[in-house]
Amino acid sequence: MIPAAFDYHRPDTLDEALKLLKKHGDEAKVLSGGMSLLPMLKLRLASFAHLVDINRVPGLDYIKEEKGTLRIGAMTRQATLERSDVIKSKVPILADAVPLIADPLVRNRGTIGGNVANGDPGNDQPAIMIALGATFVAEGSRERSIPANQFYKGLYETALARNEILTEIRIPMPPPRSGGAYAKLKRKTGDFAVAAAAAQVTLSAKGTVERCGIALTNAGLTPVEASDAMKFLTGKMPDDKTIAEAAKMAAAKSAPSADRRGSVVYKKEMARVLTARALKKAVERAGRN
Ligand code: FAD
Repeated sequence: MIPAAFDYHRPDTLDEALKLLKKHGDEAKVLSGGMSLLPMLKLRLASFAHLVDINRVPGLDYIKEEKGTLRIGAMTRQATLERSDVIKSKVPILADAVPLIADPLVRNRGTIGGNVANGDPGNDQPAIMIALGATFVAEGSRERSIPANQFYKGLYETALARNEILTEIRIPMPPPRSGGAYAKLKRKTGDFAVAAAAAQVTLSAKGTVERCGIALTNAGLTPVEASDAMKFLTGKMPDDKTIAEAAKMAAAKSAPSADRRGSVVYKKEMARVLTARALKKAVERAGRN
C-alpha cells in the first residue's frame, strides 16, 4: 500500500528538528531508520502530516565510554553496534541480541534510538536496556533523562513528549564480576520474538547476586521488568534451583497475547525457559570477569 500524503522535512541541526516538532505538534513524527515507521505508514496503521527526518542531524551517531558510562548516540545503526568491540567485550547482552534483530538489510538502516523509542513490545532492545539499568536522554524544551524502566507506558506509548527527540542511551558500565545474556526464540530470520529474556547480573566476591536486572520482550503491551524475580535473586547464590524459581516468577509476570507465534500458555512457558537460559549464561559470564 502507499502511505497517506505527508510533508517531508530534512533538518540539518537538532535545533531545527526540534523547532519543526514544536511547530507541527501531534501532526509530526520523527523518522530515523524508518524500518518500523515506514511499514506502519504504508500499511496505513498510522499517518502523520509531517515527517521530520533526523538522518542529517550531526553528532547523534557514536559509541563512547566515559566515566563509567557507555554513551550510545540515538542514530547509531544496529550494524554499527554489531561491529563494535566495546559492545562485544563490555556489554555481551547487547552483542547477543543485535545479530538476532531482523536481517542485515534492516540492521544497516535501523537505529538503536528508533528501536527503543518505537514503543513496540516486540522490539528487543527495550528489555535489554531495562535489564542494564540504562537511561534515555531526551532533548525538547530542555534536556531530561528517563530511566528505561519508566519509559514504556503502553502499546506504542512512551514517556517521550511529541516535541522531544531521543538523543542518547546511557548504560552504566557493568562492574567486575558482571555478566549479561539475551535469549530469544523466533520462528525464522526476520521475525520478531515469540518470547525473549534479558538478564544482567553482578556477583559479590562470595558468588551471591549483588545486583540483577531481568526483563522480557513480547510478553505484554510493554517490555516487562521481572521485579519480583530480581528481588528474589538478590543476595542469593545463583544455583540451578534458585534460577529455576526466579524464571518461574518472571514468567508469572508476563502477559502475552495469543497470535500466530503461539498461545498464551506456550509463550509464558517460553518466557520461563528463556529467562532461566539467560540467567544461567549471565551468571557464567559474570564468573569469568
Ligand atoms: P523508525 O522506524 O524511523 O522509527 C520508529 C519509531 O521511533 C517512530 O515512532 C519514530 O518517530 C520514533 N523515533 C525514531 N527515532 C527517534 C528518536 N531519535 N527520537 C524520538 N523518536 C524516535 N526489531 C527488533 O527489535 N527485533 C526484531 O526481530 C525485528 N525484526 C524486524 C523485521 C523486519 C522485517 C523489519 C522491517 C523490522 C524489524 N524490527 C525488529 C524493527 C527494527 O529493528 C527497527 O529498525 C526499529 O524498531 C526502529 O528503528 P528505526 O531507526 O528504523 O526507527
